[in-house]
Amino acid sequence: MTDRIYLDHAATTPLDPRVEEAMRPFARERFGNAGSIHSFGREAKAALDSARDATARVLGCACAEVVFTGGGTESDNLALLGVARAARSPCDRHPGPPGLGANRQRGNHVVISAFEHHAVMGAALLLEEWGFAVSRLPVTPDGMVEPQSLAEAMRDDTILVSVMLANNEVGAIQPVAELAAIARERGALFHTDAVQAAGAVALEVDRLGVDLMSLSAHKIYGPKGVGALYVRRGTRITSIMGGGEQERELRPGTENVPGIIGFAAALELAEEMREAETARLAPLRDKLVTGVLDTIPGSRLNGAREPRIAANANFAFEGVSGETLLVKLDLLGIAASSGSACAAGSLEPSHVLRAMGLTKPLAQSALRITLGRATTERDIDRVLEVLPQVIAELR
Ligand code: PLP
Repeated sequence: MTDRIYLDHAATTPLDPRVEEAMRPFARERFGNAGSIHSFGREAKAALDSARDATARVLGCACAEVVFTGGGTESDNLALLGVARAARSPCDRHPGPPGLGANRQRGNHVVISAFEHHAVMGAALLLEEWGFAVSRLPVTPDGMVEPQSLAEAMRDDTILVSVMLANNEVGAIQPVAELAAIARERGALFHTDAVQAAGAVALEVDRLGVDLMSLSAHKIYGPKGVGALYVRRGTRITSIMGGGEQERELRPGTENVPGIIGFAAALELAEEMREAETARLAPLRDKLVTGVLDTIPGSRLNGAREPRIAANANFAFEGVSGETLLVKLDLLGIAASSGSACAAGSLEPSHVLRAMGLTKPLAQSALRITLGRATTERDIDRVLEVLPQVIAELR
């Protein structure tokens, strides 16, 4: 099947050949352990250092503020659980220099939004098991977290706020700079999950005003199972795993050198291509949205048109089962999604769409189409050609 059309780039992306090329030597002849003192190890360590440099350049931060992890889920867990654990810790393991972004030390309250990725939602559930209080901010029907609702949720004992930069299901870009300012003014740390925003939104951490930021390589044409957590200097955070002293003692375990090289190469490329890709994809996405809304009765776009990442379109179709729709499209060679990949296969409607106020049946009728580097106008035309017919048959 050579003419399959892949429109599920929010689930994952193919490895960019340039990224693969950068990684290859470190899986083969330059295979050393970055912790070894011999030349093999030093070679790997030097590569790790340059990957950290490259990542720091994109984020506008210091190299020491980049912690490589095993992907977006792990970064989110390290951010939430690591900060919470440090807040409970009797000793200052990683207190950082005084005054430099240090959070208010002790507290029992964490704030997230109601439509975070499962990684943050799940970490928040663990925090509740640990005895923390968690507030979940409401989202508007357009898919936005309002600064006012954060201002109202903040408490004197709030240690951390976590709101994603771009939502994975509806692509809505959140007012992170404003939200972060509110949190930090009240002495809390601010974490953002930027996994879906990378390559679509500028990631400069100072402009965003965030203390912690999660990234994942496989959403930006890098390898799976590797990512990073930006940790602002002075942030009180501890490891959530026991082990070695790698990654400033925050992420023990032998570094995935080829993966990290791939992550950094992918991030640099994504940043380099960001503006041009946005300019190319936005009109294609708009053509798709207008085409669907004009030709399919009972259809709606989930989430505001703006601010939204250029690659994302998410629809609901009255009276249609999203799962069946996906299967039908797949048979026609079109790969899309009914929500987040992790929710696929589950009969539960998307918590994101439910948080935005969609009824259960409408949320279960959702179709997420996410464009990528290989997407052409022909792909969009093909979707517009088959979708009205498929929907009509399903009704
Ligand atoms: N956060 C968001 C917003 C995501 O979309 C994803 C992946 O779907 C993740 C976190 C998890 O990233 P990973 O697949 O690297 O664990």
